Amino acid sequence: MGHETVARVTHIGDKVKDIKLGQLVVVPFQINCGICGACQRGITAECEAVPRLSAYGLSCLNGVEYGGGLADSMSVPYADAMLMPVPEHISPVYLAAMADNLPDGFRTVAPYLALHPGAEVLK
Ligand SMILES: [Zn+2]
Repeated sequence: MGHETVARVTHIGDKVKDIKLGQLVVVPFQINCGICGACQRGITAECEAVPRLSAYGLSCLNGVEYGGGLADSMSVPYADAMLMPVPEHISPVYLAAMADNLPDGFRTVAPYLALHPGAEVLK
């Protein structure tokens, strides 16, 4: 709870270029810069710009508390890299798991199906 967040942007920092005020966005739970070597390899939990395992909505894993999506508002660094704008016509209810559980499910199932096309993965 609190690490899978869909939010509306209410403030924009001076360095933000791509995210717009009022946009509906998915907020990934792993705080990352998007440009370091680890981020470029897709290993955002190892981002070199923030303490290792920096995340929203989890217990404090590295001595830094970031809060989470159950708050009235949250501060998101590296907004252009972090935030994923989503279409307004899709209900946030359907997007709630986009920050963690849906990608986890994909990573769990997709490689198996690539090796075994058509295989049953759920019964
Ligand atoms: Zn990074």
